[in-house]
Amino acid sequence: MASNPSLVMRILSASVAVSNRASNIIRNVLTKGDLGIVEKGKNDLQTEADRSAQRCIVASLHKQFPNVAIFGEEDEMTQRTLSFVNKPQYGTLSSSVPHWTPPKILELYDKNQNLQLDPQETIPKDFIELNFDEEVLKHTCPEYLKDTKDEDVVIWVDPLDGTAEFTQGFLDHVTVLIGISVKGNAVAGVVHQPWFNFEKPGLPLGRCIWGVIGLGAFGFERETPPPNKVIVTTSRSHSDRMVTEAVEACNPDEVVRVGGAGHKVLLLIEGKVHAYVFASKGCKKWDTCAPEAILHAVGGTLTDFHGIRMNYSADVQRKNTGGVLATVADHGKFLGCIPEHIRDAMDKSSPAPELDFKGVVVCGGADLEKAKQNNGQVSAGKSPSPEENAESKSSSDKVPNDFNTKL
Ligand code: AMP
Ligand code: MG
Ligand code: MG
Repeated sequence: MASNPSLVMRILSASVAVSNRASNIIRNVLTKGDLGIVEKGKNDLQTEADRSAQRCIVASLHKQFPNVAIFGEEDEMTQRTLSFVNKPQYGTLSSSVPHWTPPKILELYDKNQNLQLDPQETIPKDFIELNFDEEVLKHTCPEYLKDTKDEDVVIWVDPLDGTAEFTQGFLDHVTVLIGISVKGNAVAGVVHQPWFNFEKPGLPLGRCIWGVIGLGAFGFERETPPPNKVIVTTSRSHSDRMVTEAVEACNPDEVVRVGGAGHKVLLLIEGKVHAYVFASKGCKKWDTCAPEAILHAVGGTLTDFHGIRMNYSADVQRKNTGGVLATVADHGKFLGCIPEHIRDAMDKSSPAPELDFKGVVVCGGADLEKAKQNNGQVSAGKSPSPEENAESKSSSDKVPNDFNTKL
């Protein structure tokens, strides 16, 4: 049971536990062999794994934290199955608020603890995970998050990131993403990779990476990318001319086209690439919230193409219409490579309300020593200027006071 009094650490701990269960559910769907593919929109697929993992994560976190807002990618499905709950005491489930999840879901559990959504739709008992991950609870909540209240938090869930690649058998591209935002800022998250090691029999299958800004990130080996070249990652299945042009503008020595926002940020923090460049409006808040928090926790940066961090408040639009640029260092240098007309084609994101990050150590936990050894720098090669060196050091050590506008 969770004795850690901090709300954020309890949500994170529950999220790690529920991501393990969701990951099992996803693997079982593949083992059974019937993916139940539905086309949600152009080039936008959903499978039984996406649907079941969403039910598991949203229902479980709702049961634990009934007064915290949770938005999941597949909420249109949840909304349909919850449509009978459209009563005043639950708020309004109107189609203009497609990703709203009703509170007081606890009242919908039947006497066997199955979540009875409608006569046709029951969430099985074994989809509900009520445990907390003890490892997470051993850590102290960073000071700036200690007083966080239910109403400050929005949880963004992508039950299966990289669906296109999942259906094509690129299993290591798949991740489960649970992002925790406080007052609009991505502060903590879980990126679970169900098929990590799937090509290495004998090694444990799957891994869970989690992190908090101010505490650090755990569950992986941090490496620095090769210093004398520039490696850029981008979408494999949602590319177009502008996406490619933005990548080429960074003058990469190598381009890694893989699926999933979660997977691409893992490549960043493990030192396999220097930047994730996506000049498109297709990525959504549930794709970036958890990866952004984990990347920032180890001193990296994720912004739109104007250098503005995303806002994860409940009322924001779901699409990241400003594009996505993520780096481990030298963020300003990559931003500077983007041609004016591409920047102009991307919207400016509405910045998140200021959180007082002042004095927060970003590289914490297992990564702190390595970061120190590397002098806090992860060079993208090509001789950065002294100003850029100074910037990447400070971005690895502390969140600057002008975090919102740091380029
Ligand atoms: P990708 O790098 O293509 O895997 O995209 C990262 C995330 O953004 C995935 O969850 C995609 O489903 C989503 N995404 C990106 N572009 C689009 C698009 N044009 N339509 C729908 N989803 C998209
Ligand atoms: Mg996704
Ligand atoms: Mg998804």
